[in-house]
Amino acid sequence: MLGETTDDDSNNEPNPTQTAAGELADAIRTTLGPNGLDKMVVGENGTVIVTNDGSKIIEWMDITHPVGRLVEQAAAAQDNTVGDGTTTAVVLVGALLEEAATLRSAGLHPTTIIDGYGRAVEAALDQLAQYERGLHSRQDDRLTQIAKTAVTGRWDDASTDRFAELTLSALQAIGFDTSRLTLKSYPGGELRESVCLDGVLVDLETSSTSLNALSHPRTRTHDEPAIAMVDAEIGIEEPNNVESVELQDATQRNAFQAHEQDRRTELVEQVVQSGATVLLCQKSIDEAVRTALAQRGVLPVERTRRDEFDVIARATGSTPVMSVDDLTADDTGTVGSVTQRTVGTAQTLVLQGCPEEHRATLLLRGGTPHVAEEVRRIVADCIDVTRVALDDGVFVPGGGAVPTALAMDLAALSREIPDRTQLVFDGFGTALEALPRTLAANAGTDPLTTLTGIKQRHDAGAETVGVGPDGHPRDMIDAGILEPAAVFRSALQRAVAVVTQILRVDDVVRTSTNERTADGEHDHAHAATGGYPWAVGH
Ligand code: ADP
Ligand code: MG
Repeated sequence: MLGETTDDDSNNEPNPTQTAAGELADAIRTTLGPNGLDKMVVGENGTVIVTNDGSKIIEWMDITHPVGRLVEQAAAAQDNTVGDGTTTAVVLVGALLEEAATLRSAGLHPTTIIDGYGRAVEAALDQLAQYERGLHSRQDDRLTQIAKTAVTGRWDDASTDRFAELTLSALQAIGFDTSRLTLKSYPGGELRESVCLDGVLVDLETSSTSLNALSHPRTRTHDEPAIAMVDAEIGIEEPNNVESVELQDATQRNAFQAHEQDRRTELVEQVVQSGATVLLCQKSIDEAVRTALAQRGVLPVERTRRDEFDVIARATGSTPVMSVDDLTADDTGTVGSVTQRTVGTAQTLVLQGCPEEHRATLLLRGGTPHVAEEVRRIVADCIDVTRVALDDGVFVPGGGAVPTALAMDLAALSREIPDRTQLVFDGFGTALEALPRTLAANAGTDPLTTLTGIKQRHDAGAETVGVGPDGHPRDMIDAGILEPAAVFRSALQRAVAVVTQILRVDDVVRTSTNERTADGEHDHAHAATGGYPWAVGH
């Protein structure tokens, strides 16, 4: 009968709330680690995406269950703040909920579990410090290893290694100031054609910079050009009201045309007089002027995107003027070279060797738009993770070495606990072990054998041993499988936070189940939600 639901009832049946989160964890568990499988996500409109990036899979999954949404939000927050560790967080959520279910079957109240998890996570975070190692400098080779670990398994090994190396060399070139780095990815090329350019790349298509006069350029490369910049349209000022102008006769028409021609000549002459060999205009350039400029050896670029225009002005030391009439030699800036470059089907202009502001561009290639986009994401993740590691200054061994060590620490600590919280600590430790177990299972080795092997090595003092890429125990420092400490720390904190929420919701849902109204609807307004607004309306 309704209203008589007891703790015991819920212990025997899978709890629907926990199941939603558990199913999500199950769905992405097989993608964890270097041997994670790809998932094919089919979008509503039939688009197919193949990836093993946990955060993308969750983002593209159509999650409707409110509890699934909580896990999704936690994963998104993890991705946004540290750029990695989303699958780790979700696997931890699943494992912690599973352990919570076992603890409840053993008769523990959710509140005891929530409190115990809270204490266990604090203890685990305290212990984490002893496994952290410091980065020596921005040139530390281990930064490259950290970037590689973050994207291992996303593409073939050789390519991911190359992307990590490219990213690091670009970051080092600009002193890790990412505001000076531009990512550009273009379909139609080989991954290995991706390069790091010392300078700015202007995409003439997406920047809507049309370069018609360049179809027959005199030179494709301008060495040490003088760069003039005009922040306004370049052309003949039109009469205010064009329709009202009537050219009565041929003489008038000729006079008008002659005037226009004079003005064009004047504009071209002014640009040439300034010594400029490259002219960047933020708006359009009159077509005849453009052609005449090209004939005089000046490279005209119109409709340069606003952000690129500003970057180029800063990087080249050019002072934009509002009218060609104001242009002088003093206003021009320079770079090492300006080159017209065709990338796939796109026309681009590369400004290399900027004297005023060192800039870098990662020019990424991929066979199809999907590949090009995935490459861009991989490199973006490398950048995020490298920055997180640098900001934090510490890294840890990867491959589940740290969660295994923490599980062992918690097991030792739990022996000192006199009450039933001891069971919760043990459960928390078992949940942490889900990470090395999953990595082993995904690599095709027996999770229990691998875990036991790793624990033996830890017992013998080798606390940096984790699951190697082949699924067998391996020293992670030797193998260069390193992660920012912040990624694991954040994944653990977020996982516990969301599990706590879910365990609390359970309590509320059961209470409100008791309060169901006659038509079977929840009584949303009822105080039984205990002050948790997110529990309302499930
Ligand atoms: P997440 O979304 O959590 O980042 P990943 O699929 O990227 O999930 O897997 C991350 C896990 O894989 C981490 O535990 C990391 O240490 C481990 N890992 C990454 N590269 C390797 C490797 N080459 N060998 C073993 N483990 C690795
Ligand atoms: Mg990852």
